[in-house]
Amino acid sequence: MASPPHPNLELRPLGNTGLKLSCVGFGASPLGSVFGPVSEHDAISSVREAFHLGINFFDTSPYYGGTLSEKMLGKGLKALGVPRNEYIVSTKCGRYLEGFDFSAERVTKSIDESLARLQLDYVDILQCHDIEFGSLDQIVNETIPALQKLKEAGKIRFIGITGLPLSVFTYVLDRVPPGTVDVILSYCRYSINDSTLADLLPYLKSKGVGVISASPLAMGLLTENGPPEWHPASAELKSTCQAAAAFCKAKGKNISKLAMQYSLANKDISSVLVGMNSVRQVKENVYAATELATFGKDQETLSEVEAILSPVKNQTWPSGIQES
Ligand code: NAD
Repeated sequence: MASPPHPNLELRPLGNTGLKLSCVGFGASPLGSVFGPVSEHDAISSVREAFHLGINFFDTSPYYGGTLSEKMLGKGLKALGVPRNEYIVSTKCGRYLEGFDFSAERVTKSIDESLARLQLDYVDILQCHDIEFGSLDQIVNETIPALQKLKEAGKIRFIGITGLPLSVFTYVLDRVPPGTVDVILSYCRYSINDSTLADLLPYLKSKGVGVISASPLAMGLLTENGPPEWHPASAELKSTCQAAAAFCKAKGKNISKLAMQYSLANKDISSVLVGMNSVRQVKENVYAATELATFGKDQETLSEVEAILSPVKNQTWPSGIQES
């Protein structure tokens, strides 16, 4: 029997969906061994720990680990043994190990495959995955209408879009009827080294669209261990982030906690989606949120780290070469 959710992990409304997401969301791409091998035991334990500490939001994609992440997450959720309405699941469509395909036919087939791997009857959110790689007009005219049919069929509850360039969100949202796209997922755009999502938040609010901000650790840049081999950042950005991590460590601080708290402090972001593959990381990231709620930000260290990162502030990378 599951213990009750942690009372201190804040729930935040997601746009007009009526959903309330835990402010820390569980990014399941690491369960696809995207950041190094993860055992089934560790994957299931991480999901269990997350749920028990109050995380109710889990995000995956058929692309992560070539479907492995969805399968692992499905096993973890099933092992919880709790009613389906106690957790919120998002997965994606249109991006696969074999390439991109945002056609109505492929995304309609894709949801059935995802539901089977996740061992679920429906997902709460289905997102078009990294739409900058497709034709945005196809997303507007073909993919989203196909997702609306999946909504009517009860296979998904809400529709989302994800991508790295922020311009893709305005392009699509300006061309679909209001209320058609419920959620956007942006990544690597609201962390200490890049906060460009902030400028878009008033627009998204005006559209009633829920905001999920992923990769608060900039896909590993803001960790003591550094990013994985495939990370697309420039050598300058990587070395500057490592210098910031070393600075924090020498001061007895942890850059990942600082980065989590930086993202969590903005309440216009419904959930900060962080990738986790161990019970230890789950505990650390939930603790970062509860500590922030109790004591506020470590402004002194944050200012010092911002100064170190200022030469690379908002420096991004071409979206053609990332692993998201
Ligand atoms: P992230 O910034 O969350 O970093 C994840 C890395 O940090 C992993 O190596 C993880 O093991 C490590 N980590 C986590 N907590 C840590 C801690 N406390 N201390 C040290 N290291 C820690 O990057 P991410 O996983 O790419 O992004 C989070 C999630 O957001 C993904 O899992 C995915 O669900 C989603 N996402 C979606 C898109 C998209 O739709 N295009 C893109 C990126 C991410």
